[in-house]
Order: sequence, then C-alpha cells, then structure tokens
Amino acid sequence: MVHIAVIGAHAGDAELMAGGIAAEAISQGLEVYFIHMTLGEKGHPTLSPKEYGEQKRKEALLVAEKIEAKVIFMPYKDGELYYNERTIIEIAKVLREIRPKVVITHWRGSLHKDHTITHDIVRDAVFYAAIKWFDIGGKENFSRIYYAENWEDSHEFQKDIYISISPESYKKWISAVKNYAFVRGETGFPYDEYYSNLARIRGIESYTLYAQVLMKPWYAKKEIIKKIEKL
Ligand SMILES: [Zn+2]
Repeated sequence: MVHIAVIGAHAGDAELMAGGIAAEAISQGLEVYFIHMTLGEKGHPTLSPKEYGEQKRKEALLVAEKIEAKVIFMPYKDGELYYNERTIIEIAKVLREIRPKVVITHWRGSLHKDHTITHDIVRDAVFYAAIKWFDIGGKENFSRIYYAENWEDSHEFQKDIYISISPESYKKWISAVKNYAFVRGETGFPYDEYYSNLARIRGIESYTLYAQVLMKPWYAKKEIIKKIEKL
C-alpha cells in the first residue's frame, strides 16, 4: 500500500525534510514515494546545471534505493517552477496514479520561491486528485496533507506532530542522504550536520531518541470535543 508521497522542490528536499519518517514508515511495511519537482541543478558553485543535474539524478536514485523508497522525477527546471493549472493537473494525475494516503510537502513560509510554489501546487493537486468531478483521468484519491520541517521554510512553521524514528531507521536515513554531495556540505551549507542533529533535538523534545516533525494545515488543527469529560 502506498502510504506516503513526499514532494520536494529540489532533489534532496524530500529526503532531508521527511526521509527519517520515510525510513521509519518503510520499516513498518508501508510504501513511500519521493517526488522531485526539479533536480535542483542550479545549486552548484562550479558545475554547470547540466553536469550537476546528471549528478543529482544519480544521487537521488541511490538515496531512494538505500531508503527503499520509490522515486519520481518531474520535468521542471530549478528556479523555473511556475504555479499554473497545467502543473497542478500533472501532480494531481501522479497522485491519482500512485494513490498515497498521506502527502508531505513544503511549508509555504520559505525563503525559496520553488518551495513556496511547490507548496501551492501540491495543496491544489491534492484537492484536484480528491474530487471525482475533475476530469483529469484516473480514479479520485483522497490524501491528508502535512508540511515538513526544512531550514529554508521555517517562517511561522509549527511543530504539530512528532514522529518517532527508531535508531535503525535514523542510521539508514542519514547514511543514505550522504550520497548527495550537497548533503555532505560540498556546496556550503552543512545539511548533514543540520538534519542529523535536528532529528536528535526533536527526539529529545518528544522524550525519544530521534524524531521528525510535521505541521498540520490550519483547517486540520481544530479539535472538536464531543464529550465534555475529554476536556
Ligand atoms: Zn530546495
């Protein structure tokens, strides 16, 4: 059963912001897809987008293989992702095809426009995928949406749900993402150190070893108490 689709703007985003959750879900027998909107091919100081894009595609395949997740590459270009009907429908079609129960993507309070645009596209694609009257092919599929913690998307991000990650899943995740040169710090930011330590901090906050957090959409935050004794 496909349980989770993690949709990131650039190859590497999905695996960093929810790779621990993915590894943990897979260890529990669930199926996970990483969907990369772009390769993030313009993120290297010296390699050309063509060279770096080829490298990142190979790295992404290796990371998915190590985590035992599936991977889908969308055809959009780094920095040239646009919010439009065509792209929303393309993502909605993918969701109807792979049929996830849960979709995880970027929170929109981001410093990177590709992340904000991905948030907007995915929110609307989840809606299109769920309503059978949108004639886009395939059978409707309802999924719950959550936003993952990403250092670039931290403006007004809220830690609503802590997902505990076993030491085995944590190790598997961290050693897998190191297949990306940028995660090893080769483009400047120490991603490896940031995300491995962050998962430990989230673990401490939730009285466990390791964890990653998710934010709920505003409409899912309200709790309806039906019996007064639950107060
Ligand atoms: Zn990114």
